[in-house]
Amino acid sequence: MSKLKTLRYGLGSALVAAALMASSSVVAQEAAAEHVATVEAILADSQFETAVEYMRDNYDQQIEEFVELVEIPSGPFMEAEISARYAELLEEAGLENVHVDEEGNAIGEWRGTNSDGDYLVVSAHLDTVFPEGTDVTVNWIGTEAHAPGVGDDTMSLAVILSYIRAMKEAGIETEKDILFVGTVGEEGPGDLRGVRYLFTEGEYKDNISGFFSIEGGTAGRMTAGGTGSLRYRVTFEGPGGHSYGAFGTVNPSYALANFMTAFSEIEVPEEPKTTHNVGIIEGGTSVNSIPFSMAADVDMRSEDPDELEKVHQQFLALVDEAAAYENERNSTDNGEITVNLELIGDRPAGNTDPESDLFQITHAGYTAAGYEVPEPGTSSTDSNMPMSLGIPALTIGANSGRGGRGHSLDEWLDTDIELTIPAMRATLAVVLANAGYVQE
Ligand SMILES: [Zn+2]
Repeated sequence: MSKLKTLRYGLGSALVAAALMASSSVVAQEAAAEHVATVEAILADSQFETAVEYMRDNYDQQIEEFVELVEIPSGPFMEAEISARYAELLEEAGLENVHVDEEGNAIGEWRGTNSDGDYLVVSAHLDTVFPEGTDVTVNWIGTEAHAPGVGDDTMSLAVILSYIRAMKEAGIETEKDILFVGTVGEEGPGDLRGVRYLFTEGEYKDNISGFFSIEGGTAGRMTAGGTGSLRYRVTFEGPGGHSYGAFGTVNPSYALANFMTAFSEIEVPEEPKTTHNVGIIEGGTSVNSIPFSMAADVDMRSEDPDELEKVHQQFLALVDEAAAYENERNSTDNGEITVNLELIGDRPAGNTDPESDLFQITHAGYTAAGYEVPEPGTSSTDSNMPMSLGIPALTIGANSGRGGRGHSLDEWLDTDIELTIPAMRATLAVVLANAGYVQE
């Protein structure tokens, strides 16, 4: 999970969701019952059981790979080494056409028996938030692994490798093709660059029909909404001058102040949650100088793409108005106030329809496997990108669920086999149900 906390839907959404449920027809209930039956059949299938046994018997290998991957430094824009190594491991696990794409994502293909040309993506992210020089040595306290990045998201990378090997060993077949991906740039500064490339530029961009991001947390976790954000550095520039001698000259400070005051008054809805902030301001040279330049870092977020765009458009208009007002009321003899806008963050918002097959099968799958499914949350993860494009996507969990202190040097994760294998089993059943598990 990226550093945004997973937010639970507020009461408003819960009521809307309840109303939707109540109005959903008998047909929808029959579909849900069918999905439960599908997953129950997978869970009871002997080949699937063989795969789970394989994962249990070879859990030591999973832990070895987990430790190896944790101990490769992989902060933002430092993923080259872990990408290359992860691609090797995907290849060893038995995937086809394994490669690192131009953005740095490590990718391998699983062939389906009845491919329609579209892929189900099963991914985890390669990057962590930790800068160069961070000590990433794993320390063990019993079955608890302590090191930066263990839960977010390196265990999921190891889980995926175990899945591929277990599916091969057990002779499991799926109708659909699956693309297994280790993505780069999920965390803050990376701005979803890996998954953005996958969906907007890479060779698979038009051939992905469903997307899973396996993240921290245990089976049953379903994040079905992506909080969108737009971040700008806005800089007002002017001719500058002596504060006394050149008084009356257009002043970037006042343009910035007027912009900020107006921006602070933009009204946003509580539901869907929408926010704005000016996080940093900087500029100027001395107390007795009209500045040449004043800048602000601005952050806008929403669970809803339309609401985000509304704030965005108001922001753009206010920036121009503030500059125009300063140029109008003060002297431009030595030059005008100009605005320089730099986009420093762009995470699209989106949601996965609770009526979609991906959502329904996943929900049914976790329930059938005996996991409680909490109210699906909203967060900022790799799933934001497909969600924003209308492609069903969910961020789900497959680890023990015992861990914490993500994004801190004290991050830890319990790797207890008795907690981890059942969660891996449930999430594998969910993935296979979505990929069209072929019963013998
Ligand atoms: Zn994460």
